[in-house]
Amino acid sequence: MSFEKEIARRRTFGIISHPDAGKTTLTEKLLLFGGAINEAGAVKSNKIKKGATSDFMEIERQRGISVSTSVLAFNYKEKKINILDTPGHKDFAEDTFRTLTAVDSVIVVVDVAKGVEEQTEKLVAVCRMRNIPMIVFINKLDREGKDAFDLMDEVEQKLGLQVTPLSFPIGMGYDFQGIYNIWEKNINLFEGDSRKNIEETIAFSDLQNPELEKIIGEKPANKLREEIELISEVYPEFDREQYLSGKLQPVFFGSALNNFGVRELLDCFIEIAPTPQPKASDTRLVDSNEKKFSGFVFKIHANMDPKHRDRLAFVKIVSGTFERNKPYLHVRQGKNMKFSSPNAFFAEKKEIVDISYPGDIVGLHDTGNFKIGDTLTEGEAMNFKGIPSFSPEHFRYINNADPLKAKQLEKGVDQLMDEGVAQLFTIEMNGRKVIGTVGALQYEVIQYRLEHEYGAKCTYENFPAYKACWVLPDDPKNEEFKEFKRVKQKFMAHDKHNQLVFLADSEFSIQMTQQKYPSVKLYFTSDYH
Ligand code: GDP
Repeated sequence: MSFEKEIARRRTFGIISHPDAGKTTLTEKLLLFGGAINEAGAVKSNKIKKGATSDFMEIERQRGISVSTSVLAFNYKEKKINILDTPGHKDFAEDTFRTLTAVDSVIVVVDVAKGVEEQTEKLVAVCRMRNIPMIVFINKLDREGKDAFDLMDEVEQKLGLQVTPLSFPIGMGYDFQGIYNIWEKNINLFEGDSRKNIEETIAFSDLQNPELEKIIGEKPANKLREEIELISEVYPEFDREQYLSGKLQPVFFGSALNNFGVRELLDCFIEIAPTPQPKASDTRLVDSNEKKFSGFVFKIHANMDPKHRDRLAFVKIVSGTFERNKPYLHVRQGKNMKFSSPNAFFAEKKEIVDISYPGDIVGLHDTGNFKIGDTLTEGEAMNFKGIPSFSPEHFRYINNADPLKAKQLEKGVDQLMDEGVAQLFTIEMNGRKVIGTVGALQYEVIQYRLEHEYGAKCTYENFPAYKACWVLPDDPKNEEFKEFKRVKQKFMAHDKHNQLVFLADSEFSIQMTQQKYPSVKLYFTSDYH
């Protein structure tokens, strides 16, 4: 197959949702369609079980799963589909944010009864910032839930989206009869008693057709006609360009558990979802069709076996082909590297591959050369943009608890930060280290891993910060900037890229800073360049 055809058949996306909305179940059904797995329960949930904070087996279990489900690839109707796993647990949100830099589109799963939940709001906000095309899947239609129109209103308001339904439920919960597929103009019936999905669909190009009454009954038929009419009046017609530019989000309804409405979603997805997209670097926009290889690291995974410190760096291929044993430039280190056993992913297995294409993910064995965000090219000195750090929500000093193991601690902290487990800030005034995390769970993960993988012990101490604000360094002669740094010196730090950060202790302090020192520019992600 030609290079262009290989690109055109690839769809790389992520599924995002609040925990329990049905992401794992949907992933599994999608893989079943691809024939990539043949039993239910094959995809492991990456969820953290309740009470996991003190259960370190759980942390290890979770890490194991997050390797095996990092990338799930399968073929369906000639398309190569790569699903990138996104942890739903809020303590791992940063991992998900980073993964979103490697997807070309996303599917958002919403629980019909619970509606839009907190984690979904946060993740969708990041997708909106990047104009990532999104499809919404409203799940668990076999249960009683909110009214479909109310739910779409909620999605628009809470998520700031403009939706248009491409399928619509006929009844819900006990009365759920099936789905009218607006996109394909057919009806798929949900078999009430057996609750089994018959795969056949009934074509209905015209809903006025009296056959409709015979199939779903008179009342539901009239209701459906009214609803579809209302939809055509209220919602914009689907427009692929609008969807691709992140301005319009199609909605599907179904029940992942019952494998209902999933085929409709998948069939539409492969038609409309974007092929591997161009990506901006610090020097130019790189197109997937370019023949020369380029890619970037969006995730690093430590080996589960502490005796083997090698890690797996996940690289998204942006352009060209990635070939085994061919030298590529590690731009940050300015050196050429060859990879003798790059891993590709298929369903839940990984295997060594000779060649991979744009949109694909390769897993590279790494002994500590890579950091998240690193760029690999065929020689061009450029760096891909777009893996900003967001402000952590928790801040603690890290102290060495075993003076004989200072080196081990430093190395361990360094490597865990490269993996993106948390963010490290060094206080300018005294050189003390502060670890910032999205969730409190990370502190226990770090402590545990430092001890078991690096033989180092640490303790924490509270640091009274509320938010990290990146500061654009100004002319050191600027009096206002000088005063700001002097007054806030206890809170001035550097991040791992040596960028200046103000660790503000409250929202009030941020506002006061902005008022008192208007020439000092504060940014809430590290990506202000
Ligand atoms: P995740 O946390 O988003 O990955 O959610 P899971 O896929 O693990 O699903 C959470 C729970 O919801 C599980 O008990 C599923 O069996 C259940 N579930 C998923 N889809 C459906 C559905 O369509 N209907 C019903 N009734 N339950 C579902």
